[in-house]
Amino acid sequence: MVDSWASSEHARRTMRANRSKNTAPELAVRSLLHARGLRYRTNYRPERSLRRSADIVFTRRRIAVFVDGCFWHGCPEHLAMPKSNVDYWVSKIERNRDRDRETNELLRDAGWTVLRFWEHESPADVADAVTAAVASAQPITGRSQKRHTQARASGTQRVPQAGQSGSDATTSSSSD
Ligand SMILES: [Zn+2]
Repeated sequence: MVDSWASSEHARRTMRANRSKNTAPELAVRSLLHARGLRYRTNYRPERSLRRSADIVFTRRRIAVFVDGCFWHGCPEHLAMPKSNVDYWVSKIERNRDRDRETNELLRDAGWTVLRFWEHESPADVADAVTAAVASAQPITGRSQKRHTQARASGTQRVPQAGQSGSDATTSSSSD
């Protein structure tokens, strides 16, 4: 269902000017985290059964990070409504905000830590907050799944990658 105006040049410009994935602030945060040695997935579904992707996901620490665009997510400081078809944009952004709230609830109910930032926030501040959350979270393999270590070790066939030390002990238990 596409309103005729939605294919107009104006609507296209609005959408192009407000990307929702891999935005510059998001990329800046990602490269800061990467430089600190953190590894994560991007544009990834924390829970496969939930059709919601987070921008940055730490799977073993169950941390989902969102860097929300000021336009699509309705930042109160920077939301500049397009001049035309205001009703369309207002309801679209309102739906996005409802969906964000629902996503937070669904993920938290599933045991995830959800961190949300605005794209206008300083990437360094965002990276600091994410780093702190990662540092204080226990990787799930070290805590709740401790009892399954045996099964995990025998069921895991992880090949050490070239250039990395393969010293992650659990994988070598059956090879000698
Ligand atoms: Zn903003």
